Amino acid sequence: MSALEKKSLVGMDREALQDCFRDLGVPEKALRMRASQVWNWIYTRGASNIDDLTTLSKDLRAGLAERFTLARPEIIEQQISEDGTRKWLIRFGPGVEAETVFIPDDRRGTLCISAQVGCTLNCSFCHTGTQNLVRNLTAGEIISQFLIARDALEEWPDFQDKEEKGKRPRKITNIVMMGMGEPLYNFDNVRDALLTFADSDGFAISKRRITLSTSGVVPEIGRMGAETGVMLAISLHGVRDEVRDTLVPINRKYPIKELMQACRDYPGLSNARRITFEYVMLKGINDSIADAKALVRLLAKIPSKINLIPFNPWPGSNYECSDWAQIEKFAEVINRAGYASPIRT
Ligand code: SF4
Repeated sequence: MSALEKKSLVGMDREALQDCFRDLGVPEKALRMRASQVWNWIYTRGASNIDDLTTLSKDLRAGLAERFTLARPEIIEQQISEDGTRKWLIRFGPGVEAETVFIPDDRRGTLCISAQVGCTLNCSFCHTGTQNLVRNLTAGEIISQFLIARDALEEWPDFQDKEEKGKRPRKITNIVMMGMGEPLYNFDNVRDALLTFADSDGFAISKRRITLSTSGVVPEIGRMGAETGVMLAISLHGVRDEVRDTLVPINRKYPIKELMQACRDYPGLSNARRITFEYVMLKGINDSIADAKALVRLLAKIPSKINLIPFNPWPGSNYECSDWAQIEKFAEVINRAGYASPIRT
């Protein structure tokens, strides 16, 4: 079997891993143990080569390696900015490329992960919205973005180092599904990946540090919350349907009123588990003081945080970023209503 035809073990759940060993003739009573060994190698130790799985016999490794792989997808480009932000362009197959971004901030490090290549939605302020959907990423491909970031940040614990004892300060502390695509249109793969990120025998990222951002696929919002328990972010960007219909066209299908109801019903919502509302600042479109007041009214009974995002123009975009003075005035209204530091720089 050629390297390209081999299936990745990354993203398989424990049942699927057991099936791999069953096919190799491993006795039934040893399957669970074997699956959890592989799980541990992938998600605790960062193994990227089946031959490194030294708790398995040589024969077992050879059998696995004939059909499966742990190789990472290819990194086509890596950019590192002065502030430590890193961006990777990753190729998952011919013409299937997506971005992953790591943003360090004081003691926090957030990894922004893509769910799809391209997007079916056409949010008018978004560059990804101009690209057609290529395909959904598999759970393994979503998880691989995390593995690649951990490799590059040298975050895997060194189990040989006696001082370290397999513990190393984390650089990636938070995950946001906020990269390319609409995660709720790739429900099963995103759910499986999120549950893997939170699994206590692996990355063990607290569900309160994992956020899924949606443009507002109302019927799936509560289901994702119930099945994963992660935090929710909404790409809001408009407080009136006529404005939001243009900025985030899925609003025509699920208008603001329905979206807000889905937010109020979000499982586990409380002051400790607030919903983040993303609001891109577009000059003359959604940045008036009346809009700011309407935003405060709209979120009045929802435990929430607001992120005002200065618009970053891209070639061909039809919008301008609001003037800084206007962003500050807008933020002041939000601040006075009790939301702390709402501007994301
Ligand atoms: Fe862009 Fe997200 Fe809208 Fe897709 S859903 S067009 S990725 S903002």
